[in-house]
Amino acid sequence: MIPVTTFVGQTVAVFGLGSSGLLSAQALAAGGADVIAWDDSEMKVEVAKAANIKTQNLRELDWSKVGALVLAPGVPLTHPQPHWSAVLAKKAGVEIIGDIELFCLQRAMSGAACPLVAITGTNGKSTTTALITHLLKSAGIDAQMGGNIGVPALQLANFASNRAYVLEVSSYQIDLAPSLKPTVGILLNVSEDHLDRHGTIENYAAIKTLLVAGAEEAAVIAVDDRYTRDAADRLERAGRKVVRVSAESRLREGYYADGTRIVRARDGRVHPVAQLAGIGSLRGAHNAQNAACAVAACRALGLEIETIQKGLVSFPGLAHRMQQVGCKKTSSGSILFVNDSKATNADSAAKALGSFNDIYWIAGGKPKTGGIASLAEFFPRIKKAYLIGEAAQDFANTLDGKVPYEITGVLDKAIEAATRDAEAAGTKEPVVLLSPACASFDQYPNFEIRGKAFVDAVMALPGVTAAV
Ligand code: ADP
Repeated sequence: MIPVTTFVGQTVAVFGLGSSGLLSAQALAAGGADVIAWDDSEMKVEVAKAANIKTQNLRELDWSKVGALVLAPGVPLTHPQPHWSAVLAKKAGVEIIGDIELFCLQRAMSGAACPLVAITGTNGKSTTTALITHLLKSAGIDAQMGGNIGVPALQLANFASNRAYVLEVSSYQIDLAPSLKPTVGILLNVSEDHLDRHGTIENYAAIKTLLVAGAEEAAVIAVDDRYTRDAADRLERAGRKVVRVSAESRLREGYYADGTRIVRARDGRVHPVAQLAGIGSLRGAHNAQNAACAVAACRALGLEIETIQKGLVSFPGLAHRMQQVGCKKTSSGSILFVNDSKATNADSAAKALGSFNDIYWIAGGKPKTGGIASLAEFFPRIKKAYLIGEAAQDFANTLDGKVPYEITGVLDKAIEAATRDAEAAGTKEPVVLLSPACASFDQYPNFEIRGKAFVDAVMALPGVTAAV
């Protein structure tokens, strides 16, 4: 844990006692603050009490004596309506911050020499965060990963030499972190998401841009959408060091994907920097964007090209995101089983469908608005679909006459049927792909448990060996 000493002797209110809120309270108390914590859920208050955290209904607090309100990122700051604790703090003129802000304040005080890479974007945050952590670790750096992925930032090991921090930061967390000044900031992309919390897409994009605006060494921005392009233009005009990245177009200056290569254009010349061919965990144009940003960030931190390439090759990828689970040899080749359970909407499933050719597609679950009509351009890649869950009939209607399908209802049956068909087809590299384009809640508690059910069932099939 990182004790937060910046509020020593002051009263700090903490609202929202999930994992990051509890940790904020503990880190502040360990650093000498007088912490008073609360939550709307009685059960969470009890958990805090059991962890020896002082609790009191913040409605009864004398706010004139409070140094700051630490709000959990899930608690609304402005939209759709400010939470009552935020209203009370504002009325009393008390600053409202989050756990990432506590991390940043403490880093400024005792860890300024430790590089901090902060990553945001609508999609690809976790992949890019995990990849950068892996690249730094492969270079012998003690890279600590946390934030919106894995553990809360304050749970990481305390600042020390040869230690670097890689934080995934959501827009909610940026909103509560005015001193976020990473060594390298990365903005991957901006598309419509979380508008319930941020009002408009312009406001959402502006919040995301704050993360790169504060970057000390480099603002790495993938300029493949108009919001990130605007952000790059604006920061450059303000004299900031922007490193442009693209997975889609050749840039005059910056890093871009050229086929499976990542190259850097600089002073009118183009230099190869990385090769993604054959790296299964980084398939697809979306991963080229993630990888190019990761490479640009690691170069900005001074890693050698050769070291980065070695790290890329050994990146295992993240579970449930186009995760290569296993292979089964057949008389004509090998079936690859891929778990993309995280694809809970059509946009995400498009990424996986666009990354393979000979697909036996397992899809369905709790439907999302719009269904799978938008995936029509990928239908020629799909040999057959195996439909599960509540969305099965609706998906069948969309596929009818275009893609052969079978309503299998449940995952086990879908895996069995897809494997049988992939084996019988006699092609070289068929792929059995779970990329549901649906939420999991009709049949599973969450997408992780759905993905694990897929992995377990696949690994139990005769002749399947773990993919390397
Ligand atoms: P996040 O942490 O932002 O949710 P993840 O790295 O967990 O992102 O990826 C989630 C899904 O988003 C992936 O399964 C893929 O479908 C899609 N995705 C990943 N990277 C990108 C990207 N750079 N652009 C667009 N979509 C992406």
